[in-house]
Amino acid sequence: MKLLALVLLAALSLSAQNPPAAPPKKGPGNSPPPEAGDDVRGYNDTPQLPGQKWKVHDMTRPRPVAVTPAPYVNEAPPADAIVLFDGKDLSQWTGQARGGAPQEPKWKVEDGYLEIVPRTGKLVTKEKFGDCQLHIEWLIPKTSTGNGQGIGNSGVELMTRYEIQVLESNQHQTYADGGAGAVYGVWPPLVNPSRPMGEWNVYDIFFEAPRFDGDKLLKPAYITVLFNGVLVQNHKDFLGTTIWRRVGTYTAHPAEQPLSLQDHSQPVRFRNIWIRKIDPSREQ
Ligand code: MG
Repeated sequence: MKLLALVLLAALSLSAQNPPAAPPKKGPGNSPPPEAGDDVRGYNDTPQLPGQKWKVHDMTRPRPVAVTPAPYVNEAPPADAIVLFDGKDLSQWTGQARGGAPQEPKWKVEDGYLEIVPRTGKLVTKEKFGDCQLHIEWLIPKTSTGNGQGIGNSGVELMTRYEIQVLESNQHQTYADGGAGAVYGVWPPLVNPSRPMGEWNVYDIFFEAPRFDGDKLLKPAYITVLFNGVLVQNHKDFLGTTIWRRVGTYTAHPAEQPLSLQDHSQPVRFRNIWIRKIDPSREQ
């Protein structure tokens, strides 16, 4: 212990003599700076992604190229949509504490949007959904600070399991499969049309629920995502329940499950959330 304390003391006094570390700079092109943390650089000690040449959160995977989207257009819900949030109240939602216990929703509603109150747990819809079309708008407050996965992190969790990442990806970098519009940990967005902090982003999501026969997976979940009107996921599969640094696996679940919004300890705003159930039997 004494030796450890000495080493720690030495390390502290050494770091005290060094000038403070410069804030991470943007690297040339799509390369994050080496001095940035692993949330920015990515990993090389993670498992291989099945069917891909990359590892989970692979530090060498190319970052999506930035694309400036067209200006925001307000898309009001069509007549057959279920409005999950119209700017007024959380009547369509319940809360879920960290650890999973149900609770009253604790996020705040003001000025037509709802905002994550960090570390109060997630929001979960009362209604359950399978195949669906989802419209959801989100904004990272301009006052947000942080880096990598630590700024504007939330997530749209289909069936409470399958996450499309929400993150500040206009000015901040992270590993390719962890930025805004990613099938988190599996598929980076095709391009990066993130708007700056303080502006509303839009996801239009088309989701096919996985199919099970008992415990056996018959068909994985598939997702198509328009991000600010730009295609970023084109019918891509989930490998299972979204998970950090690992390959997700499927656990059989009912055909319909709630939608949830992730609390990742950072304030993110949402508004204009509506969903349409897709009935495959209507395909004739
Ligand atoms: Mg997230």
